[in-house]
Amino acid sequence: MSYSTEFMDHLKSKAPLASWIDKKIKLTRKGKLLLGNCPFHQEKSASFTVYEAQDTFHCFGCGAHGDIIKFIMMSDHMSFREAVQKLAETVGVRLPEEQSAAHELNHNRRVLIQATEAATVFYQNQLHANVGRAARAYLAERLIPEREWSRFRLGYAPSGNALKTYLLKEGYEEKVLLEAGLILDSTGRKEGSFDYFRDRLIFPILSRQEKPVAFGGRLLKEGHPKYLNSHETSLFIKGQTLYGLSEALKSYKSDEPVYIVEG
Ligand SMILES: [Zn+2]
Repeated sequence: MSYSTEFMDHLKSKAPLASWIDKKIKLTRKGKLLLGNCPFHQEKSASFTVYEAQDTFHCFGCGAHGDIIKFIMMSDHMSFREAVQKLAETVGVRLPEEQSAAHELNHNRRVLIQATEAATVFYQNQLHANVGRAARAYLAERLIPEREWSRFRLGYAPSGNALKTYLLKEGYEEKVLLEAGLILDSTGRKEGSFDYFRDRLIFPILSRQEKPVAFGGRLLKEGHPKYLNSHETSLFIKGQTLYGLSEALKSYKSDEPVYIVEG
């Protein structure tokens, strides 16, 4: 790929040629010029000249000439692309291809967060629907008041593929649901991919930014496993997430002890 003039100007503005060359050879000031022994040919008197205003070099002995990229290409025996990469890395400028990769990553992450949020709302609605009757009864039996249901965004995952059906209808792609860990792959199953959580009380696991990134699900009937957590995804890294942390931080005071308990 070629680099835009804007990018090249920006990159070069971060690395004045004179200061770059000064690390390689000794330059002596003579008026507006900087002179040194040419690194590209053998010489006894300095004919290698750096023009600071133009940010270029010229050798009156061998004719070597160019800008900082050319200098790196010649001194490090690199291609144009390699020289740009080296300079960008040295001065901490992101290459355009890295920027678009980062952009894509952000976009992908946003879609996963949206899908997980949509799933959370779906589960919350199911808890209050007819299908959530047993789950509501269980919460009441465990003396969890209703205001806590909404505070912790508790929900209910019905049996079957209710979530998958709903989210596909909402326009989410199947691969997004797989990546977010909301459904599981169809390998070896005739019915295709299927809802990860079925007939479970749902506890969304929120990030520090209070976005749902995963779920814990408690089975309502007898069965195994009683508790099921989302598997790890790019949003959910188990060692880096603590259930209830965003909520706990709201009442955290630095002079009081913090208790961490097993769920
Ligand atoms: Zn020369």
